[in-house]
Amino acid sequence: MSFSFRAMWNYKCPRCRQGDIFSKPFDITKPLDMPDKCTYCGQLTEPEPGFYYGAMFISYVVSSLLLLPVPLLLVFYYKWSFEAAMGLMIFITALLYFKFLRGSRSLWLHMIVKYDAALLKDSEK
Ligand SMILES: [Zn+2]
Repeated sequence: MSFSFRAMWNYKCPRCRQGDIFSKPFDITKPLDMPDKCTYCGQLTEPEPGFYYGAMFISYVVSSLLLLPVPLLLVFYYKWSFEAAMGLMIFITALLYFKFLRGSRSLWLHMIVKYDAALLKDSEK
C-alpha cells in the first residue's frame, strides 16, 4: 500500500518511512522546523517553494471536519449554551494546535510523495 497512516501520524518520511520530517527534539518556538532532506533517504522535505500552502487547506478541512460536529452536537442535542460550546472548542483547539499544524504538513507531503519500498535495507524488510 502506498499510504501509511502510521508514518503520516508519526511524521516519518513518506518515501522511506524511516527518517523524520521534523527536527528533533520538538522546540515549541520552532514547531515547523524541518531538516532540508530526510536523513535516511535524502527526500527533500520541501520539494518546491511554497509547497506547504496546500497544507493550509488540509489543516482547514481536517480541523473543520473533526471539530465542527462537537459544538453542533452540544448546542442542538445537549442544549449547551453557544458560549459554553465555543469555550470548550477553543480549549480543545488549543490542545490540538501543534498536532493539526504538523499533521497537515505531514499529510500533504504523504499525499504527494510516494512510498518506495526499494529504499529499505535488506535487514529491515
Ligand atoms: Zn526518507
